[in-house]
Amino acid sequence: MLIDAHIHLDQYKEEDVPKLLEEAQFVIAVSTDLQSCEKTLTLSNLFTKVKAAYGFHPEQSLPSDHDKQALFNWIRLHAEDMVAIGEVGLPYYRKQAQVLDERPYIELLDQFIQLAKELHKPIVLHAVYEDALIACDLLERHAVTKAHFHWFKGSEEAIERMIHNGYFISITPDCVYEAEIQTLIKSYPLELMMVETDGPWPFEGPFENARTSPCMMAKTIDVIASLKGITVQEAGQKVTENTKLFYEI
Ligand SMILES: [Zn+2]
Repeated sequence: MLIDAHIHLDQYKEEDVPKLLEEAQFVIAVSTDLQSCEKTLTLSNLFTKVKAAYGFHPEQSLPSDHDKQALFNWIRLHAEDMVAIGEVGLPYYRKQAQVLDERPYIELLDQFIQLAKELHKPIVLHAVYEDALIACDLLERHAVTKAHFHWFKGSEEAIERMIHNGYFISITPDCVYEAEIQTLIKSYPLELMMVETDGPWPFEGPFENARTSPCMMAKTIDVIASLKGITVQEAGQKVTENTKLFYEI
């Protein structure tokens, strides 16, 4: 049984959660805003397999100062109940669709990185392509080393820098049909790799029209094993061990 290192469990119907959890050893359930954090907390209290991460998803409008303060206060208050800060990061896809001043997003990410450092927790990042380099700048500035770039995509320069810094990535089910992710698997060390679904985000190819759930990670492991030239069992064991060590679960 695998660990889903990144899932939005709060976005599924509540009655579907027990069935989804049957398919994973643990899940790292990330949050997107304060309301989502509260829901994730409830789920982690109900199910021992659910490990909570609290944050603010970057692909949305920025919170007001009041809402941001409320979120930071809430996270500090519930730091004992969480395994990480996340999901936080930079609005790469939003930036493609509209003119956007990224500076306040960078400032907010900087504050989350400092919060992770203050609370001695890992950080879950949504920072792809050129945004990954900005995230690296911030992490390095604050000497934060426990970083997980989920569903990472980026340049060779970013990949080299992230490997050098010991940052983790997680592989999504689209590795079955995306050459870009297959190339990433080949170049990134298995020692710094986890698997995830980012559910309920839907996938294509063999997963078309299927509800995203942790069982899809078996296909991801098949791809990792084949590209790394190891057995499926070795690949599964290694990414599970990595995730347990990284999140201290
Ligand atoms: Zn996510």
